Amino acid sequence: MLNGKVALVTGAGRGIGREIARTLAREGAAVIINYNGSRERAEEAKRMIEEEGGQASLYQCNVSDFAACEAMARDLIKEYGHIDILVNNAGITRDGLIMKMKEEDFDAVLDINLKGTFNTIRHFSRQMLKQKSGRIINISSVSGILGNAGQANYAASKAGVIGLTKTMARELASRGITVNAVAPGFVDTEMTKVLSDEVKEAACKQIPLGRFGQPSDIAEMVAFLASEKAAYITGQVISVDGGMNM
Ligand code: NAP
Repeated sequence: MLNGKVALVTGAGRGIGREIARTLAREGAAVIINYNGSRERAEEAKRMIEEEGGQASLYQCNVSDFAACEAMARDLIKEYGHIDILVNNAGITRDGLIMKMKEEDFDAVLDINLKGTFNTIRHFSRQMLKQKSGRIINISSVSGILGNAGQANYAASKAGVIGLTKTMARELASRGITVNAVAPGFVDTEMTKVLSDEVKEAACKQIPLGRFGQPSDIAEMVAFLASEKAAYITGQVISVDGGMNM
């Protein structure tokens, strides 16, 4: 149970982030839904949580902006007094083969997926250090473990998230803060809706369980890592991918 806990989920207006926010709220946490561009979707997510009896608020912030993340940490800590769970879920893809990949597509993916994760940890861990407790959960990807043709930028960013996770786990462990990563495989969201049927079929052939995952598959793992039950787990990368990485 997460009663009395405050959780920030980045990119929580839609997709996997929304499901993570709903699941943490169902467990009793007061959830802050961070969004960047999708205000209406974020408001919808907040309504859903409230209809389920949960507590949610909204905070707009582009996680790739260091100063904006600093302001988000200042504002939320002032409002709530503590922050117990940080889920770095915000992420984008800009796929393409390396010979055609534009510099701005490489930079945009690294800025949001990797630097965005650094930015929030940088600003929220100070409060967690003071509290001598906290849970940080970073959403990586099977691409960051195995690599994936056409995703040089994305795979590099998600592999970077794994290095960041393990390093943060080592730096923060002595203060009772755990840091773990969840590495999803193919999950049914807007991110994968853009894939052609051909690509989806080929993807399914690489998944031992033979199907895409649902956002709830990822959210349940995040909720577990955020709970007391996972108190002795840190620095780990947990694959939730239908068996792709084994
Ligand atoms: P999605 O449906 O495309 O949603 C992406 C989310 O990220 C949105 O809520 C979006 O918010 C947010 N976001 C993007 N840029 C942002 C920024 N600069 N600042 C704050 N938020 C930002 O993607 P998803 O499938 O739910 O993916 C969620 C996470 O899981 C990502 O890290 C992704 O890489 C990872 N993942 C997904 C899959 C998959 O198959 N779907 C597989 C492995 C890993 P706005 O709309 O408000 O901009």
